[in-house]
Amino acid sequence: MKLLEHEAKDLFSEYGIPTPRRRLVSSSEQAQKAAADLEGAVAVKAQVLVGGRGKAGGILFADSPAEAAQIAGKLLKMRIKGISVQNLLVEERVEIKKELYLGLTVDRSNRTYVAIASSEGGMEIEDVAASMPEKIVKVFVDPMYGFHPYHARQIAKRLGYVGRQMLSLATIFVNLYRMAMDYDAELTEINPLVETPEGKFIAADARLTIDDSALYRHAKLKERALQADEGDWLPREMQARKSGLAYVKLEGDVGIIGNGAGLVMATLDAIQLHGGSPANFLDVGGGASADRMAAALDIVFSDPGVKAVFINILGGITRCDEVARGILDVKRQMGFVKPMVIRLVGTNEEEGRRILTDAGIPVLDSMEQAAQRVVEIIKCEG
Ligand code: GDP
Ligand code: MN
Repeated sequence: MKLLEHEAKDLFSEYGIPTPRRRLVSSSEQAQKAAADLEGAVAVKAQVLVGGRGKAGGILFADSPAEAAQIAGKLLKMRIKGISVQNLLVEERVEIKKELYLGLTVDRSNRTYVAIASSEGGMEIEDVAASMPEKIVKVFVDPMYGFHPYHARQIAKRLGYVGRQMLSLATIFVNLYRMAMDYDAELTEINPLVETPEGKFIAADARLTIDDSALYRHAKLKERALQADEGDWLPREMQARKSGLAYVKLEGDVGIIGNGAGLVMATLDAIQLHGGSPANFLDVGGGASADRMAAALDIVFSDPGVKAVFINILGGITRCDEVARGILDVKRQMGFVKPMVIRLVGTNEEEGRRILTDAGIPVLDSMEQAAQRVVEIIKCEG
């Protein structure tokens, strides 16, 4: 789950990371009042989850409340990379001496976190890495050992700071790490972290992505994640989330439903191997009930890109007869709107097959065969 800038900045504030004074608004009248409250020049920033928002015109500056109202009106009519702007952050405009970058993310292949810092903030860190790799400071952080003040001081020194500035920069980094751990962040970035002419540091932007699998530990965020939000998730992804299904939309035309992330990944591979292309990842999870199966089929059927569906169930905790009943329910309620290939093995497999074959639905027992079959069906239809 990606947090919007204002949400991330509120968390930054809780963790003692300096941020500009600000107000969240959704009309030009509110923007005018906010600018008057804040006094002086302001930045008005569209709250949308797109990269390069500034370059796309989503950030404008105003010198007076009247001007803030005017540019707010303009921003609220905009669509930025296809996303309509609902909310704006009106912030005191910070003076910039230098823009830095601070970030923390997961290095999966290394099985550690990696703290990244650069004296070249303001631009995408990938671009800095490509054009000026020497400007990037990287420290790998073993999560069991943690990120300690000396790591942070080392980074601040390598960015060229000494004394009081070095210490305040290090404190920001330690707090960022603390927040990232508490919130199960996959990624957190301050870009730019502004150094002001007075030598203070302030987070002018804030990015925070929470590991979706950890959302159960963050009740408030989970609730927010379930509110439909344009640009955040596709409607089908929202539906999956509400039904507790793990769903990821892909580019192909074979709808996939399986139980267990590993099995679903293997199913995607099997489809590719036989020359097909999966339309999605969908894991109904362990103990898939008839209800969950129905919800899963509903999601996959409603994808206009899906030409045929492959259901791959390996019964363990999941009982094949339950799955079969779920499939029959769907057939009764909405019919099979797309061709389906089913592979069903494991707990109560005989009964599951009997239920389906009695209803005229063929069941295969090899994943290879089933993958081949579904790809053939699509080629014939195609
Ligand atoms: P992004 O485009 O979504 O990454 O938006 P940012 O919040 O990072 O802003 C992009 C750029 O706008 C920054 O790198 C700054 O150069 C500039 N900017 C943003 N906020 C301020 C501000 O308060 N004062 C000044 N002077 N520049 C700002
Ligand atoms: Mn930024």
